[in-house]
Amino acid sequence: MKKQYDYIITGAGCAGLSLLYRLLLDPFFSTKEILVIDEAPKNSNDRTWCFWEIEPDIFESIVFHRWKSMWFYASNFSGDLAIDPYTYKMIRGIDFYEFVQSAAAAFPNVEWKQATVKALINNTEKGLAAVVLADGIVYAETIFNSILFDPIQPNKNEFYFLQHFKGWEIETIAPVFDASKASFMDFRVSQQVGTNFVYVLPTSPTTALVEYTLFTKELLAPSEYDIALKNYIHQFLKISDYTVKHEEFGVIPMTNTKFPEVEGRIVYIGIAGGAAKASTGYAFRFIQQRVKAIVADLKNGNSVGISPVFKQRKNNLYDSVLLHVLHYNFMKGDEVFAAIFKKNKASDVLRFLDNEGDFSTDFKIMRSVPIYIFLPAAIKELGKTLAKYV
Ligand SMILES: Cc1cc2nc3c(=O)[nH]c(=O)nc-3n(C[C@H](O)[C@H](O)[C@H](O)COP(=O)(O)OP(=O)(O)OC[C@H]3O[C@@H](n4cnc5c(N)ncnc54)[C@H](O)[C@@H]3O)c2cc1C
Repeated sequence: MKKQYDYIITGAGCAGLSLLYRLLLDPFFSTKEILVIDEAPKNSNDRTWCFWEIEPDIFESIVFHRWKSMWFYASNFSGDLAIDPYTYKMIRGIDFYEFVQSAAAAFPNVEWKQATVKALINNTEKGLAAVVLADGIVYAETIFNSILFDPIQPNKNEFYFLQHFKGWEIETIAPVFDASKASFMDFRVSQQVGTNFVYVLPTSPTTALVEYTLFTKELLAPSEYDIALKNYIHQFLKISDYTVKHEEFGVIPMTNTKFPEVEGRIVYIGIAGGAAKASTGYAFRFIQQRVKAIVADLKNGNSVGISPVFKQRKNNLYDSVLLHVLHYNFMKGDEVFAAIFKKNKASDVLRFLDNEGDFSTDFKIMRSVPIYIFLPAAIKELGKTLAKYV
């Protein structure tokens, strides 16, 4: 390890490796010395990313499965929804890590270090940023950080839900799944503790990833996820004979608190930079957009700006309004999503959730939910937003 690099990427997960791969793809960065640090070896399938997109992006070759339509289930609306022009895609963590690690192996300007980052220092006496490790300090012109060092602490006017889920990849002997359709959200499970649904992501007639998901303030006891998965598979998938081949567990913050984006020579990426959408927890596509914009800024010699996606105040406001409604329990999450999916084309809903709705899409989505609930919430949230600027 050298003493100084052009760029240090702290955290070699989704955001860190997405940034690294985009830097490798552009010869402009071939002379930049890059150090990537993670405490984990990143050699296990610790998560699965699903996301929707129209145009294939740079990770298309490692997409594990694709769906062109998806089921939505709730008590007052269910349907098999065509999502054209979108495709819903799945990338497995292990394929992603291996893909970027092996691409980087051909680049002598990239070094790796497996170590725990203790702290980051901005503007050292050398005028650089620095990473503090157990065995010393290493300097860089810029640090791209995806490590969340401290617990998220929203202010009293902000909302903070946890999106938590346990997924089982199950295998059956008999062919029982239609691998051309995913269940995007199945709200037929109990809504007693909060917004609660299941994803069913079949990847062959005999395998599917089934994810029991909640938006609540507290996690469940570990055994409760297992019981809920067993019940769902038995009651709704009508499967009794299966084996669990793989498990995953995740917690994603859903909050309208402000995350740091750029502080001096430290640029925040990934969840640590606020990339998880507050109202859905989806982050993969937002991470891609953020790191793409960073690479463009670096190449154009600009200082790295804030994320083009998250600076759209109207989308932040929409997210806050939904969190407001859920926080005060003015309407249940399953009813909100059912109302939206019932009254709109699925592709418009996906565009809206991607922060890419135009005025007419946004207006149609807003008209789908009860105005007497959402308008007062919107006025309150708008007031809070304006108060920040006065
Ligand atoms: C199980 C799971 C499934 C998900 N599924 C989806 C999905 O389907 N679609 C979607 O859009 N989003 C999904 N997300 C949300 C989001 O896309 C992921 O969390 C994504 O991995 C976030 O990327 P990141 O780079 O911010 O964090 P990570 O990918 O978690 O990377 C952070 C890295 O920092 C390292 N690290 C942490 N602390 C230290 C330290 N002190 N020193 C050194 N290294 C450290 C970690 O080992 C890790 O590799 C999922 C999240 C989880 C947890």
